[in-house]
Amino acid sequence: MTPPSRRTVRRVDAPDPDRLVESIRARGVVLDRWHDRLGELLEVRGQDAECRALLATLQYAARPPRHRSGAPADLLTRLRDALSHQIDLIVRAAALDVASAQFYRGLQADLSGISPEAPGDPIGVLLQRVADQVHAFYEHALGELPDSAWPAVSWQLAPLRDHPLRVSPDADPYTAEGCTVVLAPDETLVKLRAVAGYFGPEAYLSLPQILVHEFFAHVPTRPRENHDIGVFTEGLMDWAALVLFETTFTGPSLHHGQHLHDLRKDHPGLVRRRHTDEGDVAFPTRATGHLMAQRVVDWWAGQNSGLDLTGIRLRLAGLAARLNVYDGGLSMAEKDVFVTAMTPGNPAMAQALRHYLHHPDGPLEPLLAAAGVSRTGDTNSKEPA
Ligand SMILES: [Zn+2]
Repeated sequence: MTPPSRRTVRRVDAPDPDRLVESIRARGVVLDRWHDRLGELLEVRGQDAECRALLATLQYAARPPRHRSGAPADLLTRLRDALSHQIDLIVRAAALDVASAQFYRGLQADLSGISPEAPGDPIGVLLQRVADQVHAFYEHALGELPDSAWPAVSWQLAPLRDHPLRVSPDADPYTAEGCTVVLAPDETLVKLRAVAGYFGPEAYLSLPQILVHEFFAHVPTRPRENHDIGVFTEGLMDWAALVLFETTFTGPSLHHGQHLHDLRKDHPGLVRRRHTDEGDVAFPTRATGHLMAQRVVDWWAGQNSGLDLTGIRLRLAGLAARLNVYDGGLSMAEKDVFVTAMTPGNPAMAQALRHYLHHPDGPLEPLLAAAGVSRTGDTNSKEPA
């Protein structure tokens, strides 16, 4: 029997001897408080010296103490007070106009609401929100979602020593990344990692996009094992995750999520550690998966489906979701083959795609057959095959 908390994502704390996780978490608490003002902070005031001073304070005042003597200082209290003092200094010393002074005082007022005794867990709240949204999308795409289709999910915040691209945060402030590890057939861990030395507004605002990718593309994936990077997991599924992200998030989170995605998608030298941390692999598959998906969207747009472009993109994202949890004996290599075969230039595939556009509840078998990766017994269908 499945416990009622099945879809509650459980936080698992890693050992934190250097207090780096606590440091990242403290900045997350502040940035969450500032969430509605982060767009203005970055876009209107980002180049101002006083704004830069404030963002620098966010970094240095969250650093764990470099000495071990004396009473342990509360990191979040120290950060909150340092930022508040910095704002006092900015308002007194800089010749601000009324609107700017009000803006910084607003940030200060937000800080006063932080209670170090009960700091909350804004990253955990975001994570649960994303988990629920992704689950609801899959439930809608599949018609029904048996508990066995979804693993128990835990999550962990962990520090990164280096920038994911080995560049300076000044050049690329997106210092967070996600990683999903299958621990057991029924148990998955979503790891959120951020550079301890620099975790700022851009990295914080990119978390929704990173988390939607992890939950949508990797959490329910079948076969339930760790997979190498391929055109299915990191191409088509990344494209579909982006569709869901773009229809569920707005404002600065949407802007920075899209910006991060664009930076990573076409980055010529992009390398990424594998789940095993065994070294680096090139990452050219993402653009291929996106290209195949975009071709289908363009073709579907001319098929008189009555759907607008968003509806068409969501329909293909629904197909991606169904394929992702499809467990009719299809290997990941065969799913990769499916993506590369997903072209309307092939008459059999065109017919299957056209049928799917109009009947998204139907069996996947005709599509798989057209791609040459057919399996009997479509357990992913709403109707018996
Ligand atoms: Zn991924």
